This record gives sequence, C-alpha cells and structure tokens, in this order.
Amino acid sequence: MAQLIDGKKVAERVIAEVQAEVKTLKKNGVVPTLAVVLVGNDPASRIYVSNKERKAKQIGIETREHVLPESTSESELLVLVDQLNRDNKVSGILVQFPLPKHMNEDHVREAIAPEKDVDGLHPVNQGKLLSGDETLVPCTPRGIIRLLDEYHIELKGKHAVVIGRSALVGKPLAHLLLNRHATVTLCHSRTRHLHEMAAQADLLCVAVGKSRLVKENFIKKGAVVIDIGINRITENGKIKVVGDVDFEPAEKKASFITPVPGGVGPMTIAMLLLNTVNAAKKQAMPR
Ligand code: NAP
Repeated sequence: MAQLIDGKKVAERVIAEVQAEVKTLKKNGVVPTLAVVLVGNDPASRIYVSNKERKAKQIGIETREHVLPESTSESELLVLVDQLNRDNKVSGILVQFPLPKHMNEDHVREAIAPEKDVDGLHPVNQGKLLSGDETLVPCTPRGIIRLLDEYHIELKGKHAVVIGRSALVGKPLAHLLLNRHATVTLCHSRTRHLHEMAAQADLLCVAVGKSRLVKENFIKKGAVVIDIGINRITENGKIKVVGDVDFEPAEKKASFITPVPGGVGPMTIAMLLLNTVNAAKKQAMPR
C-alpha cells in the first residue's frame, strides 16, 4: 500500500517559512506586495482570487485588488499592467485566467514585467527555466518538486513520465525534473500506447484533466504517482472531486501517491506566495 503524500501538511510548512521571510523583509523595509487583476464575473475565478488574496494577507503580504468589468478592452487591461509594472511598490502581478474571449491571453502574459511574473508564464521566465534558472517558475510544478523533496524521493537517474504538456503544468514540470537529472518522457493526447509508456515510469505525473484516465495497468509496481488533475464529477447523485488517476487500484501498486483533494492542490497557493516573496527579494537585491 502506498504512502500518502500530504500536500496540506507540506503547504502549511511552506506558508510558515514564507511568513518568516515576509517578517524579515519587512524589518528591512521591503513590503512584498501582490497585485491581483480579475476581469469579468466568472464565479470560479472570483473564488480562486479571493483565496489567494486571503492567504497572502494572512501572512503579511500586501495585496492590491483590481476588478475590471467584462467589457474592458485588451488595451485598457494592458495599460493597467503597464502601471503595475512601473509601480515600485508592487512586487508581483497576477492576472487571473481565463480572460474574456475578446482578449488574447498571450499578449497579457507577455506584457507583465518578467521580474513581477509570479505565475512564471512569461516567455523570459519559461526560457530561464530551460537554462536552469528557476527564480520564477509556475506554481503547481514548483509545488510538486517541493513535495518530492519533502518525501526524500530521489530523482537522479529515475525515469519520469509526465502526461500532459500544458505551459502551466506539464512542460515546466518536465524541465524541473530534467534539471534534477531525471530521464523525462513527456506524453500528450497524440502519444501512442500511453499506458505502456506510463508503465515504464519510476515517477508518473499526470496533468490531463480527465477523471480516472490512469488505470491500474498504467502503473509500475513501486512507482511514485503524482496526480495533478482536478475533476468535478457526479457519483451516486453527489458531486465529488477526483483526480486523473483511479486512486484505489493505484494506491495498491504505488510506493507514494498524492490524494485528490489534499495532494498537489494545496501546494499551488503556497508556491504563489513563495514566488511573490522571491520576486520582492530579487527586486530589492537585484544581484
Ligand atoms: P490543459 O491545458 O487542458 O492540458 C491538458 C494536457 O493533457 C494537454 O497537453 C493534452 O494534450 C493532454 N491530454 C488530453 N487528453 C489526453 C489523453 N487522453 N491522453 C494523454 N494526454 C491527454 O490542462 P492543465 O492546465 O495542464 O491542467 C490539467 C489538469 O490539472 C486539470 O484537471 C486541472 O484542473 C489540473 N490543475 C491542477 C492544479 C492544482 O493546483 N492542483 C493546477 C493546474 C491545473 P495535447 O497537448 O495534445 O492537447
């Protein structure tokens, strides 16, 4: 039976560390400040944004909230991003996605100053990750690496299979693993014989968004399984959140496994706070 990787517990530890850093920075006159921009009235985005702001405030990070109507034009949003880029008091900028359909998300990502890009999605930060500079990398993959570190899971020389190649999760995760000397196979919707690929993995990470895609035959005995998926399904008339991995059979074969919820999920906000503090530090002490 696999050991459960407790993301809630590790996230609490990370948040306590970040809180201590915030205190030290403030003593030295640096106030980490996160600007959060929300466009439109999407209820899920509203909840994500307020959770992030609440957690940031709890540990002493200042927040600035900018809520813009759905009708905002892309150029108006870019003007706000430019103002935040120039504002010396703002350490990090988070524009909540998805944006309304009339906006191009790439334009907005690219407009954020790379040193304030706490989501780690600016092409400059993506490029830095390729060259081994991990100052600002996307929060979810950074959180996964921290979980693996906390459970002393060796990566060097191991075969890691990542299913899903999004810019937010799969691709940066593959590079973070490569930087730690894993041998990485990156799979996606066109990968042939997916379960055979997956079954070769010492570390199997799944970020697809399809409930219970990964069955028992995808998992090598003793593999470490990281389930990133968050899927809301209805089962026996009840709404349930499940991952991309069929948990019960996987738990019997794996050596370590993340539950959903309570595995990777809680790490994402913790890493956003860490990125904000790292951005503030870097801006205060550029070298
Ligand atoms: P995404 O942008 O939709 O990417 C999904 C990836 O899965 C794509 O690369 C796609 O391949 C691949 N894929 C789709 N169907 C597949 C199949 N049948 N077999 C193999 N690969 C397949 O999603 P994402 O943003 O990476 O998110 C993935 C999941 O993680 C979602 O459930 C999301 O909610 C969750 N998530 C969780 C957190 C967290 O904090 N825990 C954070 C972010 C995301 P192609 O590239 O070929 O289309």
